[in-house]
Amino acid sequence: VDATIQFLGAAGLVTGSSYLVTATPAKFLVDCGLFQGEAAADRRNYRPFSYDPAKINFLILTHAHLDHCGLIPKLYRDGFRGKIYSTPATLDLAKAILTNAAQIQEHGVTDKQLEALFIKRDATNSFKLFETYEYGKIFSPAPNIKVKFSDAGHILGAAIVEVWLKQTKLVFSGDLGNSPVPIMRDPATISEANYVICESTYGDRLHEAPATREKNLLAAIQQAAKDNAKLIVPSFALERSQDLLYTINNLKNSGQLPNISVILDSPLASEITDIYKRYTRLFDADFQKYLRTDRDLFDFPGFRRARTTLQSKALNEMPGAAVIIAGSGMADAGRVQHHLLHQLGNSKNQVLFVGFQTPGTLGRQLVNRAQQVRIFRQRVTVKAQIKELGAFSAHADQKGLLNWLSGFTTRPTIFLTHGENEAREALAKEITTQLKLKPIIPSMGEYQRLA
Ligand SMILES: [Zn+2]
Repeated sequence: VDATIQFLGAAGLVTGSSYLVTATPAKFLVDCGLFQGEAAADRRNYRPFSYDPAKINFLILTHAHLDHCGLIPKLYRDGFRGKIYSTPATLDLAKAILTNAAQIQEHGVTDKQLEALFIKRDATNSFKLFETYEYGKIFSPAPNIKVKFSDAGHILGAAIVEVWLKQTKLVFSGDLGNSPVPIMRDPATISEANYVICESTYGDRLHEAPATREKNLLAAIQQAAKDNAKLIVPSFALERSQDLLYTINNLKNSGQLPNISVILDSPLASEITDIYKRYTRLFDADFQKYLRTDRDLFDFPGFRRARTTLQSKALNEMPGAAVIIAGSGMADAGRVQHHLLHQLGNSKNQVLFVGFQTPGTLGRQLVNRAQQVRIFRQRVTVKAQIKELGAFSAHADQKGLLNWLSGFTTRPTIFLTHGENEAREALAKEITTQLKLKPIIPSMGEYQRLA
């Protein structure tokens, strides 16, 4: 086939995922993600697309994280009217995520002196373009092109995407899940491909053992209870918050949790938790087992949600110990900033990061042990204890990535994307020595011919 792939984002960084595949006469995208983190990344979102959105036939969406779906409303605004293919759960999550993103866009305008990237109407209109397929179903979005989704084990609905272009087969890893993790199944093994486009977020790292994670989470909660202090957990609304609630729920069921209030202070995480409750059939064997004795694995005595701004603000004055889970996960926006502003100055309080912190974010400054940070133009001295729980990552580590790649029996060409360069290079080295394959590290905007 006469086909090319162009790497439009997530090359040398972990955000802005987007690939343009041209397989004449079809032109399609895999993902259309937002760039996140540094100001330079933010500016990238405002540039016109390097292609004409009206000429794209369809879009395949791997999952509902913003760095994969966040520019879909802009794509619609700029003329894209093709179909968007995803799993049903991804559509439900994308609706919540993109509606929230549009609200942030609409409200953030005056502050940043930038025009909104898109408005709520663009998001709502783009939802009408979706057509959904369950894992395992093969569908044909254009003549001579077939597509199949498999469980990527990353977040609810996340897919590994197999694409057949006549004789050439591409496999997009999307974001691959960490194994074993609570709730999610392991990433599906795929054995055949000519080309594999593989993420590499943690290509240079190994996560802590899962048992360590639960132990460390429990230890932080116990310490908060003992010190009568706050444990602030900046958390991504999607997946990480549900993962935390599920883990704390299980600690409660096994009688290990001290008596402490646990508060979810994120309307978006709250909405997404309700979506998770609708798709429990997709979750792993442990989840199914626990479900037999506890009908709601995201709720437990002592747990409540702060819904309104007033309820959120009241938490600042609330005496006593509490676990406060609030967005955003990198502390660069959202209600967690208010909690950090109020709680960072107390050395008894703890801040527990549970995911990757992109350079340029407040979260990254804190995990890098900044003595002082700025929140809402105020200087805040950091006295609270800053901790990290690496293994709560929803991404496969180096071993997980190598394990998934070793499932291919056809010696595919591997493109490493969705990772900072050190991560990509470290993973490439391991692939070369362990799998005897020579992966390609594409740069932003690069084209590759697909034979
Ligand atoms: Zn993701």
